[in-house]
Amino acid sequence: MPNSNAPKVAIVGGGVAGLAAAIHLHRLAPETQITIFEASGRAGGVLETIYDSPYLIERSADNFATLLPDALELCKLTGYTDQLISPQQNGRQAFVLSRGRILPIPVGFSLVQPTRVWPILTTRVLSWPGKFRMLGEYFVTRRDSTEDESLQSFATRRLGREAFESLVEPIVSGIFTADPARLSMQATLPQFVKMEREHGGLIRGYLAARREDAAAVSRRASGARYDQFTAPRLGMSHWIDHLVKSLPTGCLQLNQPVVSIERAAATNSRHSWLVKTAANEQKFDGLILATPVQHSARMLSSVEPTIASNLSQIEYASSAVVVAIVDRRDIRNRVDGFGLIVPAKERRPVLAISYTSNKYAGRAPDDQLLLRIFLGGATHPEVMDNSDDELIATASQQLREILGWSGTNFRWQAVVRWSQAMPQYHVGHNQRLAETMERVRAAGPIRLCGAGYSGVGIPQTIRSARIAVEELSKLLDQSFSERS
Ligand SMILES: Cc1cc2nc3c(=O)[nH]c(=O)nc-3n(C[C@H](O)[C@H](O)[C@H](O)COP(=O)(O)OP(=O)(O)OC[C@H]3O[C@@H](n4cnc5c(N)ncnc54)[C@H](O)[C@@H]3O)c2cc1C
Repeated sequence: MPNSNAPKVAIVGGGVAGLAAAIHLHRLAPETQITIFEASGRAGGVLETIYDSPYLIERSADNFATLLPDALELCKLTGYTDQLISPQQNGRQAFVLSRGRILPIPVGFSLVQPTRVWPILTTRVLSWPGKFRMLGEYFVTRRDSTEDESLQSFATRRLGREAFESLVEPIVSGIFTADPARLSMQATLPQFVKMEREHGGLIRGYLAARREDAAAVSRRASGARYDQFTAPRLGMSHWIDHLVKSLPTGCLQLNQPVVSIERAAATNSRHSWLVKTAANEQKFDGLILATPVQHSARMLSSVEPTIASNLSQIEYASSAVVVAIVDRRDIRNRVDGFGLIVPAKERRPVLAISYTSNKYAGRAPDDQLLLRIFLGGATHPEVMDNSDDELIATASQQLREILGWSGTNFRWQAVVRWSQAMPQYHVGHNQRLAETMERVRAAGPIRLCGAGYSGVGIPQTIRSARIAVEELSKLLDQSFSERS
């Protein structure tokens, strides 16, 4: 029998953030009556696996990082860690296209940070002036201002234009599908901003960290970065199904898009929020919006117009992924790593090619290669106007030119479109977000979480859900103990 005095909480959005919020809330306050409203007919949001034997294909994320532990912790909490696999041992390296050639990313170069001298001196990705400019980072003075700046500004200032264009831009903008001239350093790579502030630079920061913990730093720099990633052996959808099974019975309501949110009643009332779907409306004591920011803005537009207007300023970018399965024997160039990034200066429509079946076992038969070709992003929005056939033709042409693919048709193919799916953390994001979250806290028992706020990766979205739950349940605890 549900306890009629227990707090009722609505979670809107059944992506990984919404599911994580429900699991954490149930653990923290088991008596809470939780309802998850999910607009579509399935949970998981952007996370979804296509199973077409013998292939296992991820529509979006194919793995997650473990350094920020929240995703792994959720797996531990729900008994899923035995289903996680590590990237394959062979081919743990990535490549960059450089004037049409496929070259390895220099060992020890991590996002924006050079940590080894020899691989930089010997790489063919940079010219000699470019190499010396990058290593000269050691002597670049610290920036005085504490204002946010763009990735482009930070990387060019510290490492030089050539290193930015040849390495940093394709590595970092590929992760965020963003325009590096607008991407906020403080919101996306705060660890390097802090490093400059505390140690005077990136190389200095690396050396200081090495002095403190030589063993850990040398492990990180020795190309073992892939140890910091994991994937569900049977795909993201299997993980999502497991999370759904870990929810309190009956709390997930599919095909229930929330249309609006209203305040239910004035003070001293038990219920605070009225959640309206097309079919009905229900009262709740607390609310967690785990929806993409633009959707949250729409739902809040009448009850909290300022918050809604702030949220609607966070932009999203679109991208398309062409999934192609090819015979390995039809590829002339090297595909022995995990993937290839393509700098904007190469002037190609492709952002990156992931050699997905090299990364994790069980994705395709050994004599075939599962490729994911990423197109579009913030800097190429026009790509989304192309038909599926045109996108496949573009991808085929790029594979011919870049990898020397000589096949006529792909063995298997799909086009996955991500319309307005990647939040863009533009310069000033953290400051605007802090102001918005302050308003949200002042609005009562409501919290926001998901990819639009403090990190786009799966661990970050789960962390944002955990924090939202902790804050909300504290607030509900207080108000329920005051009433009793
Ligand atoms: C192509 C791509 C590749 C990626 N690769 C990686 C990767 O390799 N590693 C990694 O860590 N991250 C990756 N990410 C990012 C990561 O997958 C996402 O940030 C994360 O899954 C977002 O989860 P979420 O729950 O915040 O949002 P979503 O998954 O967008 O879920 C939001 C949910 O809210 C629902 N909803 C919307 N409006 C309403 C409404 N009005 N009422 C009810 N429900 C509503 C939606 O239907 C959806 O189910 C990738 C993302 C993309 C798009």
